Amino acid sequence: MISNDDNFEKRCRGGQCRCCRQSGLKPVLDLGLMALSDGLLTKLQLSEQEGKYPLEVAYCPHCSMVQILETVPPEKLFCEDYPYYSSFSDALLDHSRKNVLSLIEKRNLGANSFVVELASNDGYLLKNYVEKGIPCLGIDPAEGPAKVAENVGVPTLCKFFTKELAHQLAEEGRRADVIHANNVLAHVADTNGFVEGIGILLKDKGVAVIEAPYVRELIEHCEFDTIYHEHLCYFSVTSLDHLFRRNGLYLNDIERLTIHGGSLRSYVSLYEDVQESVQALLKEEQELGVDQYYFYEPFSTKVQNIRSKMRDLLWGLKAKGKTIAGYGAAAKGAIMLNYIGAGPDIIDFVVDRNVHKQGKYMPGMHIPIYDPARLMEVLPDYVVILPWNFKDEILSQQAAFRDRGGKFIIPIPEPVIV
Ligand SMILES: [Zn+2]
Repeated sequence: MISNDDNFEKRCRGGQCRCCRQSGLKPVLDLGLMALSDGLLTKLQLSEQEGKYPLEVAYCPHCSMVQILETVPPEKLFCEDYPYYSSFSDALLDHSRKNVLSLIEKRNLGANSFVVELASNDGYLLKNYVEKGIPCLGIDPAEGPAKVAENVGVPTLCKFFTKELAHQLAEEGRRADVIHANNVLAHVADTNGFVEGIGILLKDKGVAVIEAPYVRELIEHCEFDTIYHEHLCYFSVTSLDHLFRRNGLYLNDIERLTIHGGSLRSYVSLYEDVQESVQALLKEEQELGVDQYYFYEPFSTKVQNIRSKMRDLLWGLKAKGKTIAGYGAAAKGAIMLNYIGAGPDIIDFVVDRNVHKQGKYMPGMHIPIYDPARLMEVLPDYVVILPWNFKDEILSQQAAFRDRGGKFIIPIPEPVIV
């Protein structure tokens, strides 16, 4: 049973693939009606009607792209108070810096080079180029983070990246040696237009370095809480290869990364020079069936099992009079809490290091968000780590809390107490 809603299969069958435009999608997972996972609420907004949208995942048997059916208008998703500031994660900063330093060396970048980042956020990545005197430009529609980027010396265009903008920059003679696009490809409604834009903005010998979560990890490790309205597509090497070729680009090299629960870093150019790394992963995907529907079919049952286990665990602890908090007001956390139905009656509060999130409330479940210092003040018995992909970082930051007897719950791939 894939869904309680028989119409889900019908909607898939009638739906058209976001990427190859063919119809006949196959149902993968129905998460039901969901509040927008990044839509943190102010106290005033708690009494207003909150928008909820279906969150349904499907597989395209023609180009292998896993995708959600619904497209929430981007202006509802990415506005000025979009709360995600990349610089609040040490692990992410370190990951980006290493990537930049290795690219500067490998591609001999210098004062005559030009680097562009799409979805440059608060300048967390490009500031490494600025430091080395390499000209760069960030493009990001979110005003808050873009202002922060400008303040640390990263020139930023506060706009959505489109084919038209790519043409305009190319005409101004600003084609790029390197284009970074980390965790943004999944966010754009016009996937083909975005990729085509990358081709237009790239120099003939340039490279686009594109990071995106790997759908294989999502399925194998049951990372259903990385599925949200902002993520329209979920990539495999097979589906990426189709997508790039359809738009005149070649996936020449690829790396698997551990960040965000398992990601792919694709190296894409206007010329074809496919490395062994790409061939090997394509072959692995064929052997595992990542390019076939049967790979995705059992996912729904596994996700429902996690929900039952989390509910048994949390409701059980609560019945014994234990107190429970959450760590990390990220989108993942919103999906997890909404899907298992844990509101303020189960989770007293959530803490987050990001000062922009403190004082607000989790979407859908309306749990208040505080500074992490509150953990030591209140000493809850258990803390659920919602952004489980940063669990090592969080556990080491919270050593003092653990020394005082506090326990953590990691929900995925299977709920465990540490
Ligand atoms: Zn397709």
